[in-house]
Amino acid sequence: MVTKTARTLKTQSKSNGKGTSHEVTSLEKKVFDYFTLSQLGKSLIQAKDLTELARIFVSCVYEASHAKNVCLLINDPGTEDYHCLYSIGLKGEKVSATSFKKQEGLFWQVLNGGEPFIIQDSTGHYRFKEIIQKNHLDRLESQIWVPLMVKNTLLGILTLGAKKNKSNYEDLELGFIAQLARQAAIAIDSAILDLERSEATAELAKKMDNLSVLYDVSRAISFTNDLKKTLLLILDRSRKAVKAQKGSIMLLNRERTHLEVKVVRGIDPITERKINEGEIECTKIKIGEGIAGRVFKTGKTMVVEDTRKDSRFLKSDASNVENIVCLPLVAEEKAIGVMNITNKTTGGKFSEEEVEFLSTLAGQVSVTINNANLYHLAITDGLTQLFINRYFHQKLEEEIARSRRYKRPLSLIMTDIDFFKKFNDTYGHQQGDAVLQTTSRLFRQCARDVDIPCRYGGEEFAVILPETDTAGALEAAERIRKAVEAYDFPALKGGTLKVTISVGVATCPDHADSARTLIQKSDEALYACKDAGRNCSRLYSAKTNQKH
Ligand code: GH3
Ligand code: MG
Ligand code: MG
Repeated sequence: MVTKTARTLKTQSKSNGKGTSHEVTSLEKKVFDYFTLSQLGKSLIQAKDLTELARIFVSCVYEASHAKNVCLLINDPGTEDYHCLYSIGLKGEKVSATSFKKQEGLFWQVLNGGEPFIIQDSTGHYRFKEIIQKNHLDRLESQIWVPLMVKNTLLGILTLGAKKNKSNYEDLELGFIAQLARQAAIAIDSAILDLERSEATAELAKKMDNLSVLYDVSRAISFTNDLKKTLLLILDRSRKAVKAQKGSIMLLNRERTHLEVKVVRGIDPITERKINEGEIECTKIKIGEGIAGRVFKTGKTMVVEDTRKDSRFLKSDASNVENIVCLPLVAEEKAIGVMNITNKTTGGKFSEEEVEFLSTLAGQVSVTINNANLYHLAITDGLTQLFINRYFHQKLEEEIARSRRYKRPLSLIMTDIDFFKKFNDTYGHQQGDAVLQTTSRLFRQCARDVDIPCRYGGEEFAVILPETDTAGALEAAERIRKAVEAYDFPALKGGTLKVTISVGVATCPDHADSARTLIQKSDEALYACKDAGRNCSRLYSAKTNQKH
């Protein structure tokens, strides 16, 4: 059986490493898309002005789409004019002078539909010929137009030329470009708002500059903690910007019946920590009820100046709320929750401008949550919720590079469930799957925040332990092994079942200096455990190791 384990490990790492299957290709694309999105978001937020923002956005689309050319047309606030702000791949001054005016009719209707559409078919024929000719829009040499919409207003249009390799745009690609456009539209909207009020509210505008950290979710080691941190940061910024006492973000629960507070700021510190760490549950708000429930249902922001005088305000909504702005959180046209900002510390009411600023931040909350969800889906295994094999390899390379750079130890734990084939044969695969789920939960519970627990293959789990030497890693290995040994796994047919694991440990730089050798050494230690009778942990040792 041991030899078989070795073979299983080898074939699994091979097929996973090459990534030939469709699943892996689409996964790679998802991860790439996520990084492009989060990087774009981060860069956009850091942009100094509208022109720089346009340059970043157009360059990003140019790179991601493989289009021959990309151009961004933008609406001058207060006019009905859309003019070229930035382009790549197009020559001549005439391009930058290209513009057109809002006009009623089918063209305008299609643009306001908000979806990407084809303006020139593969035979080179333009739709809306008259408008194209009259405004010399053929200078843009475009094939696809992507409207940039915010709050049902057409802020601008992104145009893309044919693809460099002459292939047609696929729906998936267009969908992704539309997603980039949605993110850019939010940033452009806030940049325009920023411009408009720059003098009147210089203080507020300054705060916009500090938002750069918002999108930095890509560096997440522990997804949940990082998402929470990001959301708390947005709440802090929101409260400061409009001088409010409290803020909270409520998301739809799994059953899709109620809204639940996920993060909160500005209440007493002990309750705040307990809520933010998920230790206690807050009052839930039913969809359609109270302020939050209504905002969620209608998708419309509500401002209540005096909650005592407003019958829509539920007593249970929250304690000590005097006034409130409640904003809907919408991602990809789906309502996902609400953001509440309460109690103006300076007295008085929330100004229109402040509410508008908060709605921009609510847009950022939605994009952040949506990106984190996409990323989470892409890197975690559906059954166990542990990181997938590809993520494991990527992270291990990163951690090894870090450990070399700072001359710090790094350990790897490799585990394999004992006699699992027999377990499946005896109790069935469903019971086997349930055991995998529970075991992975024990792994997550035993791991520190910085550890990276992954599903290496079928019933083989790996944990990357940064900053951990051999002694520390062996201790962690025993902790996990004992937790599994002690656990009474609920049997689907009633009663409990016992399961054990074998654990191999190896450390950098003691036993290996690369990801490949570290995996190999911890694997060998694992085989040594199996040979020694299973249900034990072993550190790699050149002497006791037995090769197969
Ligand atoms: P050993 O103690 O030597 O590890 O014996 P073993 O029977 O566990 O041998 P091995 O590790 O080679 O067996 C792996 C078995 O794990 C094969 C398969 O039946 C089971 N397995 C792998 N992935 C899954 C899964 O996703 N669900 C279930 N239920 N079983 C799985
Ligand atoms: Mg195995
Ligand atoms: Mg096994």
